[in-house]
Amino acid sequence: MDFDRTADRRALDDRVTAWREEHEATIRDHAERSAFPRDLYEEGMERGFGTAILPPEYGGPGGGAVEYGIVAEQTGIFQICFQTQRAILTAGTAAQRERYLPAFADGSAVGAISISEPETGSSLKSMDTTVERDGDGWVVDGFKSHVNLAAEATVHLVFAAADEGLTVLLVDDDAPGIEVSEKRDPIGTRYLPIYDVAFDEVPVDDDAVLLGPGDGYEVFFETFNFSRIGNASEMLGRGKRSLRRAVRWARDRTVGDQTVTEFQGIRWKIADLYTDLRAATRLRDEAAHALDDGDDDASLKTSMAKLKAADAGLAATTEATQITGAHGLYRDQPYEANFRDVKTLEVAGGSREIMRNVIADAVVPEL
Ligand SMILES: Cc1cc2nc3c(=O)[nH]c(=O)nc-3n(C[C@H](O)[C@H](O)[C@H](O)COP(=O)(O)OP(=O)(O)OC[C@H]3O[C@@H](n4cnc5c(N)ncnc54)[C@H](O)[C@@H]3O)c2cc1C
Repeated sequence: MDFDRTADRRALDDRVTAWREEHEATIRDHAERSAFPRDLYEEGMERGFGTAILPPEYGGPGGGAVEYGIVAEQTGIFQICFQTQRAILTAGTAAQRERYLPAFADGSAVGAISISEPETGSSLKSMDTTVERDGDGWVVDGFKSHVNLAAEATVHLVFAAADEGLTVLLVDDDAPGIEVSEKRDPIGTRYLPIYDVAFDEVPVDDDAVLLGPGDGYEVFFETFNFSRIGNASEMLGRGKRSLRRAVRWARDRTVGDQTVTEFQGIRWKIADLYTDLRAATRLRDEAAHALDDGDDDASLKTSMAKLKAADAGLAATTEATQITGAHGLYRDQPYEANFRDVKTLEVAGGSREIMRNVIADAVVPEL
């Protein structure tokens, strides 16, 4: 399979890399405070980074999972909005797409996705949030936890249990009864603040349902098979940047009469970390192409990509601080933040155990 990048994709990579480097300090400052870099988000949406998957008819550049991976490898500030756009693009009616997607293209829209609850994480079966018919519309009632951007969102994608089964609704932020109740204090990806949010008898129009009542699992898999590309890419980006920075430092560091990169133990460590990052990047690329080509085994491939990106990203961000000794163990260096972000992304959007379950479900009957 040919994963060589086209000139357009290389150009996107160059542009988003330069943009991330220019704004790295600002994003880091927001992460320290657990604040959403709203101005940068808006600029990045207008420049086509956070809208890399949006077709031109809605104001985007018209890419797919490959472009999503390129952007996410550099920055995670668009992650939730990529997921929201993906859900609306693949499951929305023409009217829903027309209503919401152009607002993402100009940066005025921010999405939040409410699935998790205090008692519902990896399994959606025990969801307590309900949605019931009420006249011509619906009423949503429940409590969600770990919701990125709940306070900043202009539109919430809410997963709830209906009589018909799991159902997903688009709920505007000005709907009465939405109460963002607590800002959480996560260890990683702090540029996307996390909140608990209550939906207290929130009235929703009939045309707010994505696909149809009871089609929630379909929306979920369309969205989260895709989001694994973003999570995997962000972990790879953090791993690669940590390793590169550590090696550059170690090349100049003399211990006794050798540089650190002359020690065989360090050289082999670098070789292993680099190889694992390259291998995981190939899996990510294969998965992104599979999604864009509509392959049947895209879910298997995105799960393998996320699993291996977590392995490679965690190893690289951890070992970077070993290669750099005490120098890397200070908070003015980016290593610990990269580690915290990768550790967080290892769970968010589906833990490594769930990735293994998906992989085993696909391969055990086939082998
Ligand atoms: C930074 C961050 C951002 C998040 N953002 C959002 C968001 O915006 N919206 C949202 O709805 N949620 C969000 N989440 C929640 C996230 O999706 C859940 O944390 C995740 O689905 C895991 O659920 P849980 O934490 O409840 O773990 P649990 O489901 O309680 O699992 C606990 C442990 O058991 C393991 N486990 C669970 N089921 C199985 C199984 N069948 N087989 C083997 N092992 C299993 C898990 O892997 C884990 O190790 C976010 C989480 C984080 C960390």
